[in-house]
Amino acid sequence: MPTIIKQADLIDSVADALQFISYYHPVDFIKALHGAYEREANPAAKDAMAQILINSRMCAMGHRPICQDTGIVTVKVKVGMDVQWDADMGVSDMINEGVRRAYGFADNLLRASILSDPDGARKNTGDNTPAVIHYDIVPGNTVEVHVAAKGGGSEAKSKFAMLNPSDSVVDWVLKMVPQMGAGWCPPGMLGIGIGGTAEKAMLLAKESLLDPIDIQDLQERGASNRAEELRLELYEKVNKLGIGAQGLGGLTTVLDVKVKDYPTHAANKAIAIIPNCAATRHAHFTLDGSGAARQTPPNLDDWPEIAREGGGDVKRVNLDEVTREEAASWKPGDTLLLNGKMLTGRDAAHKKMVDILASGESLPVDLKNRFIYYVGPVDPVREEVVGPAGPTTATRMDKFTRTMLEETGLMGMIGKAERGPVAIDAIRDSKAVYLMAVGGAAYLVAQAIKSSKVLAFPELGMEAVYEFEVEDMPVTVAVDSTGESVHQTGPQIWQAKIEEGAVEVK
Ligand code: SF4
Repeated sequence: MPTIIKQADLIDSVADALQFISYYHPVDFIKALHGAYEREANPAAKDAMAQILINSRMCAMGHRPICQDTGIVTVKVKVGMDVQWDADMGVSDMINEGVRRAYGFADNLLRASILSDPDGARKNTGDNTPAVIHYDIVPGNTVEVHVAAKGGGSEAKSKFAMLNPSDSVVDWVLKMVPQMGAGWCPPGMLGIGIGGTAEKAMLLAKESLLDPIDIQDLQERGASNRAEELRLELYEKVNKLGIGAQGLGGLTTVLDVKVKDYPTHAANKAIAIIPNCAATRHAHFTLDGSGAARQTPPNLDDWPEIAREGGGDVKRVNLDEVTREEAASWKPGDTLLLNGKMLTGRDAAHKKMVDILASGESLPVDLKNRFIYYVGPVDPVREEVVGPAGPTTATRMDKFTRTMLEETGLMGMIGKAERGPVAIDAIRDSKAVYLMAVGGAAYLVAQAIKSSKVLAFPELGMEAVYEFEVEDMPVTVAVDSTGESVHQTGPQIWQAKIEEGAVEVK
């Protein structure tokens, strides 16, 4: 007798798993991150990991998303050949219905980030559908499902190459990782796929990220094949690059490196890297005909209770009164606690503002001597002022930066990860500053936001220009008014310390 799988059971199971992973990190990730936090020697990187761990605990308790980017849903389904469906929808439609319900769940609204017509109108589909779904038809009478919610910042740093058969995989990976910058919110995992064809290597890389973090087990038992040898070698060598948490420099850039391989053509050696960020989110369930699968809540004792060490260098800044002279006194790596009013804006708002300026009209918001935060928050629920509201990748705003600084009098920007040379030149020329908040600590950041109102472009939804009033929002000075960048100096300093043996990577 075939197993009967009901449509409602698959829909409910997908919705349950997506809600679950929006607020619970996998326990293996928490344990690995806590270990890295304890080993970290760079105070700035340690503080970034503290924020991610505190954020994670708050999300697990408050059932709110770990990150404001609640991801694009990726699903891997293994359908048993002896399964029969009690359904009037196709399996992909059922999965997408599960996504729709999860992202619209009123008590924990998730951010709809999916745009249709990607090189055209880029219109939000409104419910985070469609998911990206991969199928395998396998012997058996169950349906096995892995769901993941992949952040756009980490997906953006994916790399692919068709190497020559004699080229070194290790050399290529060590060349690519520094080029990935910090926009993938390290520390996280690298998924590496080798072999097959171009698309197979990418799929292998993505699939490998579904496995639990277990590099310490592998270090103990030793490699038994080439893929495991590569995992060990790359884990050590990537961490020795000194990139560190959030690219600030430090001992841990990756918590694990996964490698999957597949037979390939004699002329080819396809290779793909897909990183998984601080918001690592995935879950697994099996349907066997006995009803919907429910995820089991973790034991919160597995989440360390960490208090941030304020340190003596923390400066409180009043954004309503800050002067350019005061901003010019900040040095890369300084920790600031921001208070007062800031504006928000990201990709779509920047494009609109730059277009308005080009047409000679005036902007709907005066940016003179203000700070703008690159963010697209989650909608609030219950008594929240705003939902999780962590920073988005700043390099996407680089091409707008000179115009924004020179034509509006903007004083500073707050975002995630490094700035590119074009933006750094513009910052130095305008004696502006760039501050970074920790990617992957979105709920923690949101606690600092005491009021929020839309000032311009309401039609852009989460990309509208808001005014936030904040209290003690933690940020780090990433580019100072002379153009010095902590994302350049930090990794250089820590790589040198590691090479000299002054600190040890484990
Ligand atoms: S942790 Fe960083 S890369 Fe990951 S989803 Fe959040 S902002 Fe994006």
